[in-house]
Amino acid sequence: MFPIEKYYFAATIEDAIAALEADEKARVIAGGTDVLVRLHGGNPDYGCLVDINGLDELRQISMDGEGNIFIGTLATCSEIIEHPLVQEHLPMVVQSLETIGGPQVRNTATMGGNICNGAVSADSACAALVYEMDLLIRNSKRERIQSINGFHTGPGRTVLGRGDLFTAFCIRPQKYRNMGASYYKYAMRGAMDIATIGCGAGVRMADGAVTELKLAFTVAAPTPIRCPHAEEAVLGKPVNAETLQQVADALLEDVRPRDSWRAGKEFRLHIIKTLAQKVIGQAAENLGGTL
Ligand SMILES: Cc1cc2nc3c(=O)[nH]c(=O)nc-3n(C[C@H](O)[C@H](O)[C@H](O)COP(=O)(O)OP(=O)(O)OC[C@H]3O[C@@H](n4cnc5c(N)ncnc54)[C@H](O)[C@@H]3O)c2cc1C
Repeated sequence: MFPIEKYYFAATIEDAIAALEADEKARVIAGGTDVLVRLHGGNPDYGCLVDINGLDELRQISMDGEGNIFIGTLATCSEIIEHPLVQEHLPMVVQSLETIGGPQVRNTATMGGNICNGAVSADSACAALVYEMDLLIRNSKRERIQSINGFHTGPGRTVLGRGDLFTAFCIRPQKYRNMGASYYKYAMRGAMDIATIGCGAGVRMADGAVTELKLAFTVAAPTPIRCPHAEEAVLGKPVNAETLQQVADALLEDVRPRDSWRAGKEFRLHIIKTLAQKVIGQAAENLGGTL
């Protein structure tokens, strides 16, 4: 049996926040695909659960009059993948979530949980970094906007504190418009496998030259990361083999891969450089600025 000491089914957002604040051990359960696995493994940190599955307002996916897109943290990966707004404006979110687990997992797992879990291999993290998503977080004192940049603080760790409930992702129009984007997950198996390396890129171009590159990786450092040196190296240049090699070289200043049973450091570095070139090329192609 799961070592659950306390379970609370929240009726409202305020109710959930009060329950999270009332006990420092309290943890949110959304789809449960990380929480139940940890409980199954006997992890005592998840003995006090606050279930948010009754909060339908957290399932909403919408766009406001200014073009800001909101994705509720209880929306499942399948619901997000199938939503017309996401398919039209955030294709890289669709591409990333389609790589998570299998259909059963995607029908239950949430993108909110994928990010809050703090895993360095989270497949939605590259899309969140490339689209520079804002995270709306509420507690009893206030609602705050936290950029995805800086949300992850270490392996399995985030800035979320006691009483915090993450309610929605917000993607600003200037972060997704006129940008070609692409994601690639390198894993040992074609499905049902955790990333050895995940790579995402967003490219803006003018007159055949790159005006903006956003390049993100999972499992290339202790947290999901952006790559400022590599992003700088491509500015003002065409997307061609020479430029992509310069990006691969500049990446060495951004990434800190490690050895693990899944792959050695040198192998990861090789994959990182190869994927960067592949994914930036694909993002440019998706924008129409082909090689
Ligand atoms: C068989 C299997 C295959 C998998 N494959 C992949 C894969 O390929 N790629 C991948 O990235 N992941 C994978 N996962 C991991 C998992 O499915 C994802 O991380 C999923 O997105 C987690 O979402 P959830 O809603 O189930 O989260 P939960 O398990 O409910 O919660 C995860 C964590 O986030 C916290 N949390 C959740 N929602 C909130 C909120 N709104 N506010 C504050 N804290 C919150 C919880 O307290 C917990 O710490 C897999 C899991 C399984 C079981």
